[in-house]
Order: sequence, then C-alpha cells, then structure tokens
Amino acid sequence: MSLSLLDKGYDPHKVEGRWYNFWEKELLFSACEESRQKSYSIVIPPPNVTGVLHMGHALNITLQDILCRYRRIQGDNVLWMPGTDHAGIATQNVVEKKLAEEGLGRDQLGRDKFIKAVWEWRDQHGRAIINQLKRLGASCDWKRERFTMDEGLSRAVRQVFVSLYDEGLIYRGNYLINWCHRCHTALSDIEVEHEEIDGNLYYIRYPFADGSNGLVVATTRPETMLGDTGVAVNPNDDRYHNIESASVILPLMDRSIPVIKDTYVDMSFGTGALKVTPAHDFNDFEIGNRHNLPVIKVIDDNGLMTDEAGKFKGLDRFKCRESVVKELEKAALLEKIEPIKHNVGHCYRCKSIVEPNLSKQWFVKVGPLAEKAIAAVKNGDTKIIPEVWTQTYFDWMNNIKDWCISRQIWWGHRIPSWTCEQCDKLIVSVDTPKECPFCGGNRLAQETDVLDTWFSSALWPFSTMGWPDETPLLKTFYPTSVLVTGFDILFFWVARMMMMGIHFMKDIPFKNVYVHALVRDEKGKKMSKSKGNVIDPLTIINQYGTDAFRFTLAAFAAQGRDIKMSEKRVEGYRHFINKIWNASRFALMHIDEELIEIRHNDILLPDRWILSRLSRVKADVIKSLDHYRFNDAAGILYQFVWHELCDWYLEAIKSVLYGKRGEKSQESTKGVLWFVLRGTLVLLHPFIPFVTEEIWHKLPGTKGSIMKASLFSDDSVLSAIGFNSEAELEMGLIMEIVSGIRNVRGEINISPSLSLDVLIHTENEKVRKIINEHLDIIIDLASLKSVGFVQPDKKPKASATAIVHNATIFVLLEGIINFSKEAKRLEKDAARLSKELTAVSKKLINEDFLSKAPKDVVDKVKKKQETLIEKHQKIESNLKRLKKLESSLTLN
Ligand SMILES: [Zn+2]
Ligand SMILES: [Zn+2]
Repeated sequence: MSLSLLDKGYDPHKVEGRWYNFWEKELLFSACEESRQKSYSIVIPPPNVTGVLHMGHALNITLQDILCRYRRIQGDNVLWMPGTDHAGIATQNVVEKKLAEEGLGRDQLGRDKFIKAVWEWRDQHGRAIINQLKRLGASCDWKRERFTMDEGLSRAVRQVFVSLYDEGLIYRGNYLINWCHRCHTALSDIEVEHEEIDGNLYYIRYPFADGSNGLVVATTRPETMLGDTGVAVNPNDDRYHNIESASVILPLMDRSIPVIKDTYVDMSFGTGALKVTPAHDFNDFEIGNRHNLPVIKVIDDNGLMTDEAGKFKGLDRFKCRESVVKELEKAALLEKIEPIKHNVGHCYRCKSIVEPNLSKQWFVKVGPLAEKAIAAVKNGDTKIIPEVWTQTYFDWMNNIKDWCISRQIWWGHRIPSWTCEQCDKLIVSVDTPKECPFCGGNRLAQETDVLDTWFSSALWPFSTMGWPDETPLLKTFYPTSVLVTGFDILFFWVARMMMMGIHFMKDIPFKNVYVHALVRDEKGKKMSKSKGNVIDPLTIINQYGTDAFRFTLAAFAAQGRDIKMSEKRVEGYRHFINKIWNASRFALMHIDEELIEIRHNDILLPDRWILSRLSRVKADVIKSLDHYRFNDAAGILYQFVWHELCDWYLEAIKSVLYGKRGEKSQESTKGVLWFVLRGTLVLLHPFIPFVTEEIWHKLPGTKGSIMKASLFSDDSVLSAIGFNSEAELEMGLIMEIVSGIRNVRGEINISPSLSLDVLIHTENEKVRKIINEHLDIIIDLASLKSVGFVQPDKKPKASATAIVHNATIFVLLEGIINFSKEAKRLEKDAARLSKELTAVSKKLINEDFLSKAPKDVVDKVKKKQETLIEKHQKIESNLKRLKKLESSLTLN
C-alpha cells in the first residue's frame, strides 16, 4: 500500500493559499529574459487601481491564466505581464469623494498636495485588485508588475508625446469638445454615453429688425440662444424663398444676427429655421466656420453663464434655462413648448449631462496611424478572434476622428509642454526645459492639462517591457502572442495599442486578439447593482473554491456567446472537482511507483483502451486551446474524466488491482493507472491549478510543481500505444454489451446484486472472438454468473433481449423474478397513477378553474398531467413486457 493517501474530502480552502504561496516563492511565474525556448507573452489588460474584482475580470483573468499555464507545460518561455492603470478621472473622483468626507476640497489643497493625496490613496488601496487576481490563481510575473504612472512608463509617455508632436501628429487648437462640467474636463467621443431622456422643444420667435414677424426657431437648450450668432435656413426651403430681411434681432440680447443659407439645415425639423450657436453645438461650429460667424461662449467650464450672457451672467446653466424661458414668455416671443424624447450625452464617469464646449485642447491626428492599423488586420498580421469583430474594427477605424487627449484634471501624466511667458512660444520636450530655446527667457509655464488615461495604456505592450530602451525583454517578448479582452474596450484600448505599437515599434503589438463574451446572470440579463443580480466572484470562490469557479467559466466560454452564470452551475462543477479527487484517492491507494516503460503485449484491454483515449483527448485539448475554444477543451476533459476514466476504466480494473488477474497484470495495470492519472492531471492543470497541484505531490515519481511538468514527456509511452483504434473498437463493444445488460436490469427491476446468466448470439466471427477474449471483463462489469453463445433458432424463451451492434444478448430470467409479485406491484402503481390522472384531467376541463386560475398555476397542472401520462405509459409498457415474458416462460 502506498503511503501517500489523500484526505477523504477535498477542501479548497486548506489548499489554495498554500500552493499560491509556493508558486510565488519558487518563482514559477517568472519569465526568462533571454532563453532559447519558444517565447509566449501576454500583457494583462491593466485593471484600474480603483477596481474591485467583478465577473468580467474573473473571466478575463481565468482565460489568460489557462493559456499561460498551458503554454508552460508545452515548454514555452512564458511572460504574463501584470500591472494596474492609474485611471485618471475615476481615481481622481474616488479621492475627491474621500477628501470631501473630511471636509476638504480639491482647490483648497492645491495641485501638489492633491496629487500627493492620490498617491497615498494608491499606496494604501491600489493593490487590492492585485490581491484579488491572485485569489483566482493568476500566474502573472508579479516581479515585473507595472503601473501606468511609474517612472519608466512616464518616460515612455513623454517620449511618445514629443515624437508625435515633432512629426506633426499632435496639435493644439480651439475646438468644440465634449465637456463634463462636474468632472471639469474634456471627454473623448467614446467617453460620452447617450441616453434617451424627456425634454422640451422650445419654439422661439426672432423678430426682424423692423419689429415685424421674424423667424421661429426650435431648440431643446434655450439658454444657448444667448450665444447665437446667426439663424440658418435651407436654400431649398420654399418657406424662406422670399425672406425680406437678411437679419433678425436676437431676443433678450437685442443683438442683430444674420440669416444665412446652408444646405445642412434639416427642413423637416421644427420650422426649418435653425439657430446657430458655434460655441455650444458641434454642427453649429461647422456652419459657423463656413459662414465666418463669430463664436460667443456663454457657458463657462463650470456650467455657469459667462459675462457674454448679459444679465444672466453667473447663473447655473439649468437655472438660466428657466429664466430665459420666463423672459421670453413675458416678451411674447415664446411660441410654444413641445415635450420630446431626445438623446442626450452623459459623462461615463459621473453621469452628468455633457455639453459641447469650446476650449483649447490637444489632439492626436489619427488618420495616418489608423491606416497602418487597418492594414495590419487586413493582411492577417494581427487576427481578431472571433472573426465577427474584425468588421466592427474596420468600421470604427475607417470613421475614426482625431483623438482629444487633453484632460482638465490633476491626476495623470502632465502634458510635457511649456509656454514662454516672454515670447509666448510653445516648447514641447521630454525633459523639463531650463530656459526658452527661442528667446532665452526663463519664465516658463507648464501646461496644466494631463493626458487621457488611454494615452498611457495605448503604449502598454511596449512601455511595460522597457521602451524606449532596447531591452532584452522587448526582443524576446514583443510582439506579444495574444491579447485577451472584452469587446467594450476594443476602441478605447485595443485599436489605440495597434496604432501606437505599429508606429513606435514598427511591428504589431499582438498576433492575436481574443475577444471574449460577457458574463450575465442565469437568465441572460446583464449584471447590475440596480437590478440586484450581481454575483460576486469572491463570494463564489469562498463558497465553492477557485477551481470549481474557473472550470465553470471555461466550460461556458464559447466563442461569441455570453456566459449565463449561476451558483448552481459552479456547484455542479464542484462535484466534478470532488470526482477527480475521489478517483485520484482511489488510484493512489494502489499506485506505488511511476511507470518507466510499457511493453505493448503485456497490457490488458482496458489499459490499452484508456491510453488510446488519453492520447486522443490530449490531441483534442491541444487543438481546442490553440484555437481559443476553451469550452470545447473543458468539455472534452469533463467527458473523459467523468465517463471514461471514472465510470469505465476504474471499474474495469478494480479486480485487476485487487490481484484477481494475476501479478503480472496487476503490475502493468498499476503502471498504466499511474501514467493515465499523471497525464490527466497535467491536462487539467491549466483549468484547475490548485487541486491538480495538491494531488500531484502525492503521486509517486513526480518532482517539484506540476507547473514544471511537460505535456510531452509522456510521448515515448504514448507512442508505444498511440491511437489504438483496435483497442477502442474492442472496448467499445464490451461497453455496449455491459450497458445493454444493465439496461435490462433497470427496465425490469432486477437487483444489481443478483448475478445473471446471459447468452449471446452473433454471426460475426470477430465479435465472437472479442467477447471470448474478454469474458472476464464482461462478467465483472455486468455482474454475471456465465456467458454463453447461442444459435438464433435456439433462442431462449424466458429471456429479455438487448440488441447491440452485431450481436443480440439474451438475459435469462427463469428463477430471477417472481412474475406475479412484480406484476401486482406494477398494477398497483398503475392504478394509483390513473386515479391521480383523472383528478388532474378533471381540473383541466373545468371552465371555472381555467378562467380564474393564474396562467402559471394552469401551466403547472398541465405539466403535471404530462408527467403522469408519461409515467403511466412507462408502467403499462413494463407490465406488457412482463406479461409477454411470463407467457413465454409458461410456454416453455
Ligand atoms: Zn463627469
Ligand atoms: Zn521665449
């Protein structure tokens, strides 16, 4: 007996922390900077420092970890680069909120002290998410952990900014941008969330200069009229063909503004006359440019009315709306108000209404960068998987607009640009300049804006590896092998990494982009706090263990299909983990040493069969994982372990292990059992790292961690057996016969402990030979007394028949069952069921019940009726079979 017994039950909580520490301590996650092995690399999508582990992370991290562990057992030199993102606006908001609780404001502290407070917050809380990733088993190379604001990455950011500026790909200008008055910053187009809300359409009359009628315009934001510098009509609009005056008077401001003609104006909207406010509307900005209209900014960066708003100066924008409406009513210039539903942009961080705002911003000219990023996907250098996302990528890249990269917040990479107060020239430089290179002046003011968070994460694949230096790490691991990501950041992040990587590294950042699906609740609904259907990954891990959770995620991670997550599913896969544990426990009671070599002729059919199955499973798992079909790989392993290894193989070899087939067979079977257990653990390891590591250490002949095991070290043994179609065919026939006999037992209720006699008829010589050779296995697994062969004309009368491929099995029943007793039992059951059925059916023709009962109650009764009918039919047919058997017996 072996000494290395496993505990009776598997307790993940006793195991997981211990092995995770062991892996870290033994440096098993470390990549080698220079190695002759094939390299494989992934950069983690850096979670925000403010992040808390959610289902999206759990799926994303699990899939990456499966890939990394899988590549390690293939012998690759794996780098999984970890880190966190400083998450500009998000983090600034969190720290502002915390300071507000202490009664402190950002402006009160000043920039330097505020940034210090953010760093302090980051040092205290910013690694919580990392520790949560570790609970998932993430095998990142933690020694290399980076942060988008650390020194090296900040240097890369400056270098990239300055290079792009020097190449003319970064420019500064006055533009309309999306503005969040709450966060006090510009937002890029994709940071604005559009949502339909209720609003009003205000019809306002702008009289002609002589006080006559004038034009009526319609707007949802009447306060912006204070900044109008024109009214536009469509030149094709018949209503305005004979317009008398070239100008109107802007109400409340008493300013004369021109009436202009522009084909942009939508004739079907409102009255067909459009007020033009270049400072506060994107389209008006364009129209204003075409017609040289002045730009008057009436709302400031805080959402308050400016000096230009006349007597409304200082009012909040929404208060001002009320006042303007009241004044217009008083002046009898408000024609009508119509309620409407319209799309309004909201800040993705604080949900405030975002408005177009004119300000000085920095932009990346993305056209030339996008071209190459499109080409790289078109020519297949980078593949997007599943392929459906390729078109989405092209659509977006082909319509890409210049990227506004400046943000008016404090937390982030400050833009490396200075203005000389003497000559007013702009200096853009990696290092802080001491004096103005143009006039020698030394009063230089640095730009106060910081860069969009996504600017630094766009450099992530190369900045984390030491760029702009030419490091061994870059040489070994760039381009990375695959990026695993959700589709929600395809544009924020993936597209921009493509552009930056190709531009600065002259090579794509990743060969594959694997886009995974969403994790939803069990009904397929999106998880959200407001719906109360959020499942917390850490709660699941605490309850069921990490391995069960990981396996569930993998098993449902089908390409292009969202995962419906429920506790019940995780619970189901916990049974699977326990099954592996119990099977290993049984095996380890019999294994005393490792298998060195297999001599083909020595080994029994179940051994030959399981080895062949293992080699096929191995090939299929490799194929699936190489194509990111995680669910296929998990499904193949599940089927193999549960139904082939446990249900058949372990049952088939029990008597061999107990020595009933001789010492030689016992020895070879023990060897094969060792070998199959080893191979199965290695294949399972990427999915369920903890339980496999625990069992591994009890397996004789293993050294060190299972992470160091090779998927191919067993090839010499497997190639001795290889795919063995003969063994699979033979074992397949035997399993079919045993199942056939077991079915007969089940159908007519024969106790499993009762040994049976069977006769088999076959005309196929080969089948006969196989059965003859493996009688002992059939007798064992089907609990038989004897097996014999019979001619068709000698068909035994008192028997039940099972038909399998190429053979008919007769289970002899004489003396096995007491027909009259069994018949009585079945008749009693049938009678009880028909009584129940009558009651239910009566209900279902009762009009009163049908009209008054709620639909789900009626459905329930209908369902019950169906079940009862089904049960009744089954008993009736059993009874019929029994009667037939009985008559054949009495005839005998
Ligand atoms: Zn905001
Ligand atoms: Zn100067």
